[in-house]
Amino acid sequence: MFFFPYILGGHLIPMIDLARVFASHGAKVTIVTTPHNALLFQKPVDRDRNLGRDICFHMLDFPTEKFGLPDGCENELNTTSGVMFAKLFKATMNLQHPLEKLLRETRPDCLVSDRLYPWTAQLSNNLGIPRIVFDGTGCFSHCVEESLRRYEPHENALVPDTERFALPGLPDKIELKRSMLPDYVKTENLITSFLNEALEGEIMSYGVVVNSFYELEKRYADFFCNDMKRKTWHIGPVSLCNRDNVDKLERGIKTSVDENFVLNWLDQKKPSSVLYISFGSMPRITPLQLLEIAHGLEASNHPFIWVIGRILKSNSDSTKQDRSDGGDLLPQGFEERLKESRRGLVIHGWAPQLLILEHKAVGGYMNHCGWNSIIEGVTAGVPMITWPFASEQFYNERFVVDVIKVGISVGNEEYWEPWKAQPRVTVVRKRVTSAVNQLMAGDMDEEVAKMRVRAREYGEKAKRAVEVGGSSYAGVEAFLEELSSRRRRGTETSRPEMVTAR
Ligand code: UDP
Repeated sequence: MFFFPYILGGHLIPMIDLARVFASHGAKVTIVTTPHNALLFQKPVDRDRNLGRDICFHMLDFPTEKFGLPDGCENELNTTSGVMFAKLFKATMNLQHPLEKLLRETRPDCLVSDRLYPWTAQLSNNLGIPRIVFDGTGCFSHCVEESLRRYEPHENALVPDTERFALPGLPDKIELKRSMLPDYVKTENLITSFLNEALEGEIMSYGVVVNSFYELEKRYADFFCNDMKRKTWHIGPVSLCNRDNVDKLERGIKTSVDENFVLNWLDQKKPSSVLYISFGSMPRITPLQLLEIAHGLEASNHPFIWVIGRILKSNSDSTKQDRSDGGDLLPQGFEERLKESRRGLVIHGWAPQLLILEHKAVGGYMNHCGWNSIIEGVTAGVPMITWPFASEQFYNERFVVDVIKVGISVGNEEYWEPWKAQPRVTVVRKRVTSAVNQLMAGDMDEEVAKMRVRAREYGEKAKRAVEVGGSSYAGVEAFLEELSSRRRRGTETSRPEMVTAR
């Protein structure tokens, strides 16, 4: 099996986990990536090899110089501006020829490709190699996108930007506002064309593997399979392949904090008393919004760990837009006060998220509704405060709040382009404080108490899903059996009957 991960952190990290899941089930796995990205994940892969698993990297040169990128800049995590990201995006197109050469020479049983390499669809089909799509999201957001495409409920002229409209055809009543939709959904632009290509690529592929488990998304997994006709395997949560602390810690990016310090800090807190706050791998917050969060958290009186990743510094010239780690932008004396009261911990940079989330002191998780964050929060069994910014995050918020009912919304209703740094605030400090107080108030709030129970139950189901006899375990086995039988039959690539492997 060949795995071909994308250049975004939220795609790369789960794809490596996915490859490791298949290797742990006995597949011969090759991760095809660029040298710097391979280096990031060398340690977990070496540990797997020491356990006797058949997993390795195949490196493709990345044309950094040709595209004016600094040496080693091979994923979004290393970019410092929107312009740099655009160069990176273009540079990935140059991987086409080396990948084709490799596939021609080696003829793997399948290529698991990120959805955002639409060109791998035609390439795989030409070579008769089944292309399996992976994009790090769950089924739910794809179902929402399908409803928007088919029925265009947002095009109804009577729908103002800030009024809710329902999404037709879905298993539950799901409502959105136009203000929550990306520009590329409302008006055709270059991103629309690119995403249409990605969709066409998915439709002409052999199937889709999903980082989710059947029990979590049942009705949407069925919709994706029966209504949208995708052959699907639910094989997650893939993060559970990280069984030891060292694996949870060294999951690609080097953490900016000593994990023992964080774990000791958590050990001193009461069970379920700490709120963990992280907005994922990309820069999303502006300096003004950062201040509102800081004041909001300080006024809440609940313990918290806040990961401040890269901050979007406002700059009229987007080529010079630089990103800070937030240290110089916090309210005066903020971190000193937290240190003194031991009420909060700020991590500047990258946090050992899996280790933190699974600690018994963590009782809530404020996140941006990236799918990895959601599935990792679900796995940890903690209720959430949802704060979507962009991409499909507003759809995922509905899943958390309305479908599985394990979270409350902080109330952001405005789509926020991450690469357009603006001095904007969409959630004021009072809203932050009240959401935190509501979620962390223990069992005082009846609704939240029920959420806690549901979240815990989903966490248990997630862990059961990947064990022998669980749905995701069976999904991986079913997938491998299908590949093996294809190989035995020596068949050509053709779209088979649609069935969901459970
Ligand atoms: N992550 C992490 N430490 C951090 C920030 C993020 O380990 O400090 C990981 C997180 O566990 C998740 C991924 O980065 O696996 C973020 O993925 P997600 O889809 O939630 O967000 P996005 O891709 O939108 O940034």
